Amino acid sequence: MQILLDIVDDDYVEVSTNEDKNEALNQMLADLGIPSTSNASRQDVYLDFVSTYIESISETLRPISLKIHDNPELNFKEFIAHETLTKFMKTRKGWAVTPSAYGIETAFIAVYDSGKNGPVISYNAEYDALTGIGHSCGHNLIAIASVGAALAAGAAMTKFNLGGKVILLGTPAEEGGGGKIKLLDAGAYSDHKVDINLISHPGKVHDTALSRTNAYVNTKIEYFGKEAHAAAAPWEGINALDALITAYNALSVLRQQTMPGDIIQGHITDGGSAPNIIHAYAAGIFVVRATSKKRLEVLKKKVFKCFEAGAEATGATLKMTHIMGYDDHVPNKAMGKVCRAVMNKLGSDIPEEQMDLIQGATQASTDQGNISYAMPSLSLGFKIESVEGPHNPGFAEAARTREAHVAALRAGKALAVTGLEVLSDENLLKAAKKEFEDMLKSQRVD
Ligand SMILES: [Zn+2]
Ligand SMILES: [Zn+2]
Repeated sequence: MQILLDIVDDDYVEVSTNEDKNEALNQMLADLGIPSTSNASRQDVYLDFVSTYIESISETLRPISLKIHDNPELNFKEFIAHETLTKFMKTRKGWAVTPSAYGIETAFIAVYDSGKNGPVISYNAEYDALTGIGHSCGHNLIAIASVGAALAAGAAMTKFNLGGKVILLGTPAEEGGGGKIKLLDAGAYSDHKVDINLISHPGKVHDTALSRTNAYVNTKIEYFGKEAHAAAAPWEGINALDALITAYNALSVLRQQTMPGDIIQGHITDGGSAPNIIHAYAAGIFVVRATSKKRLEVLKKKVFKCFEAGAEATGATLKMTHIMGYDDHVPNKAMGKVCRAVMNKLGSDIPEEQMDLIQGATQASTDQGNISYAMPSLSLGFKIESVEGPHNPGFAEAARTREAHVAALRAGKALAVTGLEVLSDENLLKAAKKEFEDMLKSQRVD
């Protein structure tokens, strides 16, 4: 059967439907008196199914969320969360669960395979907390939103006879540990031929389908000089602290020439041992942020020149050690359009693309950014009632409420339907991938 589908830029192309693949869905639509070629109606059928499914496991997901919340665990030490989530996933029919995946003790992978060819959609679940302020980033909610979405998508895949796979990845250490980067590098996504990745994150302001975050790099700076008596023979010494202060002052000057979105932060961890000794060692930690990976490369070069200037001026030796860095998150607009539509059907009021992109910008950073440079990615921002924003103790309290639970499950529903649309609509997947490839070309650093 040949049908006409409206895809990008109002171009009309002829597309063959795979009647076998969508047989069950078409039958269901026919039973409902809905033409099978209607994407909007298909989406409604998926949304009905997914909503019913996720509501049916809401009271199972709630204690999981609370257990993670009430046992806050830091980077790569999320043992209780890992155990709780993998134990639960093992009880779900059809899911193959690998705990401690890819040599990371608190990472896991769960796979639901339709047994038929098709796209591979994936969901990331975070569950790490912050030092001293518990789940003040609400990752307990991210965990259950992704678990709910993956389970609902898997169940719908069977119900509607769709081909492909649904994968749930347990991704530890988002708060500075780069768990997703480790999983990317280890082949967790490429081994499973993952096509797209979806996640969500709670916030206090509004829902957004197109969350954007900053790229950042965290670097340890050390200067090595030479001790000497600071009063009797200072000329025999090389002052490492002077090198660091010179660099710090050069950075302060550079800050006047940076672009909006550029951020340079630093602190001194070692400033010498005593005032009467020329300082042989000085060190600090410096973070550089920018709105894109490409811009970060430009800014980083300027910042590193300032550190070189400190060494040049004093004769100290400079050592720079990369600690961690995340890419900016580039949301996939093709998938965002679907996700926004579903969220709005669920009662949200996410504005159209341009405004959504503006609302979705934050200067925080996440390792989901690196995912967005590896495949089409979406991070659905969902609002929870909170006076304080993330990384404040008040937000941890807010992430424990019944209202926040409901908001997380709503996000899970939208992510499930977005994934199902990718499984069902090859033009959507093509559009998402083309947009991703074009983005990579535009962000290439020469
Ligand atoms: Zn956070
Ligand atoms: Zn977070």
